[in-house]
Amino acid sequence: PARLSLFGLPLDVITLPQTLDRLGGWMFASTRAPHTVVTLNPEFIVQSRTQPDFVRAMQAADLVTADGVGIVYAARQLAAVDVPRAPGFDIVSGLMERHGAELRVFFLGAKPGVAEQAAQNAARDYGIQVAGVHHGYFGPEEDQRVAELVGASGAHLLLTAMGAGRQEIFNQYWRQILNTPVAIGCGGVIDVLAG
Ligand code: UDP
Repeated sequence: PARLSLFGLPLDVITLPQTLDRLGGWMFASTRAPHTVVTLNPEFIVQSRTQPDFVRAMQAADLVTADGVGIVYAARQLAAVDVPRAPGFDIVSGLMERHGAELRVFFLGAKPGVAEQAAQNAARDYGIQVAGVHHGYFGPEEDQRVAELVGASGAHLLLTAMGAGRQEIFNQYWRQILNTPVAIGCGGVIDVLAG
């Protein structure tokens, strides 16, 4: 898809169905090459102005979608382009709905207990396989241990919900060790799935 630059950050002009097609291709490719996905929202633009490693993680992402109307509006005003919305929740639920039992998902983030509940609900509602779960409250000294846990899980899809910046930097920095074809930073999605 076409890629715009918005405040120096990438933004791909891609619809939700096209996003699901693309991620499906990545997740089930025999190479299992790692990809990172960012769902851009206005908060990321503001926060990243003082956080160069967050900017770099977004610039290195394989796909950057518009999480909501704030970004759609900014793209229209600043670049005169109509960018479709592809919100994190819709991407995650769309992939689980499409792929169901063939899909192994790792749930990383939120407070202790919440990822477990989200995984249980998703397994019940979509029939997905749970590759693993881990809460999102650990320090940088534990990053590698957690990344290795994900890397050994055989997941096709990693949901990383640890707050803006932290989740994108984690996915990008550890992508080789995560060994997961699609890692997506998805903010409050684990909380929402937990109900
Ligand atoms: N979160 C986390 N670890 C952290 C901070 C946040 O796992 O160190 C989780 C939090 O529990 C929630 C999600 O990340 O499930 C999004 O949190 P919040 O809305 O506070 O972050 P934002 O996206 O606004 O930065």
